[in-house]
Amino acid sequence: MRRNISSAGNSNGKKGLRERHKLMATEEKKRLKALHHMHCPKCGMDLIEVDYHHIKIDKCSECGGIWLDEGELETITRLTKPILGKFLKFFID
Ligand SMILES: [Zn+2]
Repeated sequence: MRRNISSAGNSNGKKGLRERHKLMATEEKKRLKALHHMHCPKCGMDLIEVDYHHIKIDKCSECGGIWLDEGELETITRLTKPILGKFLKFFID
């Protein structure tokens, strides 16, 4: 059976979350940010910022997970193949 994922997502997903975020008190947002900022969403350990040609990637010091900020994935997809190869090698090694 096929399900229409996109329409289900639009009615309940993103918009609902945004509304909830708007209603959330500033203090609560501050508290959550202080608690989670630069911590791995998977294991909770510290993230280390790794800078490669002005693309700053957050890497977990414990599990090695890699996290991208908004727009960074787009920046990476714009890299030319040889630079992209070097970039990936830099993070994998
Ligand atoms: Zn981790």
